[in-house]
Amino acid sequence: MSDCIFCKIIRGEINTQKVYEDSDILAFHDAFPVAETHVLVVPKKHIDSLNHVEEKDLELVGKINLAIPKLAETLGLNAGFKTLINTGRAGGQTIFHLHYHILGGRFIRKDGLHQV
Ligand code: 5GP
Ligand code: ZN
Repeated sequence: MSDCIFCKIIRGEINTQKVYEDSDILAFHDAFPVAETHVLVVPKKHIDSLNHVEEKDLELVGKINLAIPKLAETLGLNAGFKTLINTGRAGGQTIFHLHYHILGGRFIRKDGLHQV
């Protein structure tokens, strides 16, 4: 998926503020945050969306699920956080590389900050 933005980030072709990386997963700050903390967690393997996860990906998605609470703790979200996966255009997905949003703190709206 050479034209996928997140694959480009994974390959280091687009700069991003990384918060975690291992052999299977990358986490980085969202370029257009909607909350005080807004981090994206992606598998390094290109998977279009949650609709495209297969049995062979179970270990990978399990690993992401285990990584998210650890990452949230690292990000200081000890009081809790939201995890969001948008799937498909009608589900609000704009980048078709599976990603988990970690959202914490107050939400940022056009009219100011609001408690989650
Ligand atoms: P989606 O709407 O597909 O669930 O989420 C895509 C997210 O990727 C959006 O929150 C958007 O702000 C973020 N995003 C889009 N392009 C870039 C980019 O080039 N760098 C980073 N760090 N985030 C991006
Ligand atoms: Zn990709």
